[in-house]
Amino acid sequence: MAVPHPLPLPALHASHAGTWLQDAGGNTRGVSKGEAIMAAADTPLLMLNAPLVASRLGYPDLSGLDLLELFAFVHPARFVVPTPKGIAHALDLDEPQSDDQIPALLQMAAGTLLETCESEEWPQRDGAWSSLQSLTRMRWPWAQICGPHIKRPEAAEKWLFTKLPEWDENPDRPQPGQITLSEDAIEAQLEHLTGNTAERRDGQRMYAREVGKIFAPRAQRSLPHLLLAQAGTGIGKTLGYLAPASLWAGAAQGTVWVSTFTKNLQRQLRSESRRGWPETRADGTQPVVVRKGRENYLCLLNLEDALQGGFAGRAAILAQLVARWAAYSRDGDLIGGDLPGWLGTLFARRGIAALTDQRGECVYAGCPHYRKCFIERSARASAQADLVIANHALVMINAARGRDHAQRPTRIIFDEGHHVFDAADSTFAAELSGQEAIELRRWIIGPERSARGRRRGLAARLADVASYDEAGGKAVEDAIRAAQALPSDGWLQRLNDGEPYGPLETLFAAVRAATYARDESGGQEGGYGIETEAAGLDGNFVQLAGQAQSALAAIRHPLVTLGGRLEAVVENAPDWLDAQGRARLEGARHSLGWRVDLLAAWEALLDRLGGPADPEFVDWLAVERSEAREFDVAIHRRWLDPMKPFARTVLEPAHGVMLTSATLRDGEDWEAAIARSGAPHIDLQPHLASAASPFDYASQAEVLIVTDIKRGDIPALAGAYARLIEAAGGGVLGLFTAIRRMRAVHGRIADRLARAGLPLYAQHVDPIDTGTLVDIFRDDPRATLLGTDALRDGVDVPGESLRCVVMEQVPWPRPTILHRARRAANGGSAYDDRLIRAKLAQAFGRLIRSKDDRGHFIVLSSAFPSRLLGAFPPGTPVTRLTLDEALQRVGNSVCQTPAPQNDRQSDPHQTE
Ligand code: SF4
Repeated sequence: MAVPHPLPLPALHASHAGTWLQDAGGNTRGVSKGEAIMAAADTPLLMLNAPLVASRLGYPDLSGLDLLELFAFVHPARFVVPTPKGIAHALDLDEPQSDDQIPALLQMAAGTLLETCESEEWPQRDGAWSSLQSLTRMRWPWAQICGPHIKRPEAAEKWLFTKLPEWDENPDRPQPGQITLSEDAIEAQLEHLTGNTAERRDGQRMYAREVGKIFAPRAQRSLPHLLLAQAGTGIGKTLGYLAPASLWAGAAQGTVWVSTFTKNLQRQLRSESRRGWPETRADGTQPVVVRKGRENYLCLLNLEDALQGGFAGRAAILAQLVARWAAYSRDGDLIGGDLPGWLGTLFARRGIAALTDQRGECVYAGCPHYRKCFIERSARASAQADLVIANHALVMINAARGRDHAQRPTRIIFDEGHHVFDAADSTFAAELSGQEAIELRRWIIGPERSARGRRRGLAARLADVASYDEAGGKAVEDAIRAAQALPSDGWLQRLNDGEPYGPLETLFAAVRAATYARDESGGQEGGYGIETEAAGLDGNFVQLAGQAQSALAAIRHPLVTLGGRLEAVVENAPDWLDAQGRARLEGARHSLGWRVDLLAAWEALLDRLGGPADPEFVDWLAVERSEAREFDVAIHRRWLDPMKPFARTVLEPAHGVMLTSATLRDGEDWEAAIARSGAPHIDLQPHLASAASPFDYASQAEVLIVTDIKRGDIPALAGAYARLIEAAGGGVLGLFTAIRRMRAVHGRIADRLARAGLPLYAQHVDPIDTGTLVDIFRDDPRATLLGTDALRDGVDVPGESLRCVVMEQVPWPRPTILHRARRAANGGSAYDDRLIRAKLAQAFGRLIRSKDDRGHFIVLSSAFPSRLLGAFPPGTPVTRLTLDEALQRVGNSVCQTPAPQNDRQSDPHQTE
């Protein structure tokens, strides 16, 4: 490739420390925010991550030539950390040493990308020219600049939808063989996976042997082998269970599902599984498949619609870049796959979501792209796989209402097992809300007049059946007529205006009024969501609930009839119904069944209002709000113990199940872990196992409890964070229990830290998705990341980048109605303590990820009860001290540790 030249266009960089502008001639100067905004209005400026620059300048309308968009076009499906340093590493350029060097880097990076477009070796050339023609019509700012660098191909380029490969139909696998794994065989397999040179780890071997027992033949129907395994950080748990799993899958010809809670662990598993399985088998099938919920994947029909005018403006440009990516993507996973997480945030909100099949409108075999569909491909591949890597919610949904019996998981390893309770809680919840009801209306009736796109109602999707089968046609008509009772566009405004329309909107108006009248949570003043228990409701409310219930039943009945008609049509198939048509009707029947169940759950929920409370459930009314803006009104129902339906739907049909985690147990106590496994609901005695962490916590970590920061004193809290981050030289993960406090702290300290060369990033402040924030944090040992719950145990950052975890206070549970009910049922304050210890243990677990990690875990709490100290691993030193003393300790340990290396960036998608 020729030596790249910088692109001679003015470039802008803005950080919390200031703003720098370089003109086309190469002169860089610091400018005010106002000057930068004026310059951007005059001429398109080169910048990196325009929404972030806009937020730094406090000017949301800023636009320009965003280098990340050009990167996504030139290198689709390639990982990059979206920072100047990340771009420099990805393009093999010199890393900028200070803020004022960054505009020059942007010019050089743009020049390098354009040189790539001219190179014969450009691996992603195919499709670029055609895509650029479309982007030119859409006035993509880069189109004119790229034009001269991309030559027209000699032969016409194939359209994406022709280019993608088709999946193969395979026969179902026979049921797996019944075998027992010997301990010797498991140990030999573990040695094979870890490599003969790997150090012998007794904890891991014991763990692998225990896991092997869940694969033994089941002795009694509806009673699986259940193992609860506490696996201390660092024992090598992943290979510890992949060893028996791979052995069993090979010998029994069966499928093992490994379920995780975080995407990070999914990536790690995919990578580690390569030790046990090849990428493809001799027959071309995949032994290991990552399977996610369908809402994660690109729906090709939605994309085609977006490319053909369904999307306008910036969203249409996004659709073109997604189409570029789709041609190179490994599996079409838009969320957490190889589509850069930052791409969606550069464009309109919900742009990415609109390209997935979130509304369940898939037309299956009726879709022209069915044979190339990413979702269908992954479902088929998993039926043949030895190992399916999935998440907790998907495993539970598949067990509860999987389309295909053969695909239901029967050998399941729940890693990050401490999250199974929360996942079951959401999966088995019922929620009748305005947003959910309007979705159902659209699914039945079709789009409202103002809507764009391909979405169609039941009548259009089943037109052939309706014209062939009279009863089926009438059922469709009846369902459409009855669905008029559901809320429609503008419902929230009508509620606000006191003019609800139809029985459901009227009920939601009553829910809203009752919630505002009775809520005492403090959320009204704080701008948060508000709630009230669904008890003591007046006669009028109960009457409205009854009317809404009848309206829902009137929708459900014709849907049940329609399901029956579809079954009859499939069974006595007419001549015109080919295999594809049959598959489409099967698909329609499945999604009908799901809606019928949903309606029945809503009716049951309404039926109980006003009657005696059911001790199995917790019901409440809510107005969902964000920053004082209402976005939904709902009636919620949760199981008091969601592990009860979990036990019936997941455990009972399974043959072998394990829940494993570093924080499954409460200290040494198994009682809560057993109760939270669901086992007692089906009289199952779980096996228990525990392998202690090999880390030397006494010398690797220290817990500091800072006692002189008063609760609620934001200036003192912000000051403490700033000084701790300065003392540590960055590398701090700051955890908050309230977004508002986190924002207040961030606002007070970001500039000060930036001037000291310590970048600060925050969830809910920076317009960057959480996964990318963690990538940025991992890549820069001087960076600090502030966040809330999602970071508490979704961050795996071994090494220098994470040296200190600072919690703003003891993570008390939020006093919601649901929490109050569970607290009362599970021992009161002892229940709270267990939850807090679990949260502390998970947060502490972020700190020490390898035997070389060192660090401080700091809690800013004047009153930290001693009974919570059991959260930390035995031997970890704990000290109560003042902030000044804590600063000294942190500062001293920084002096003893070698200075952070500016390692080349690592791609967590590739290297784990
Ligand atoms: S089969 Fe369904 S999900 Fe797949 S592309 Fe077609 S409509 Fe979308």
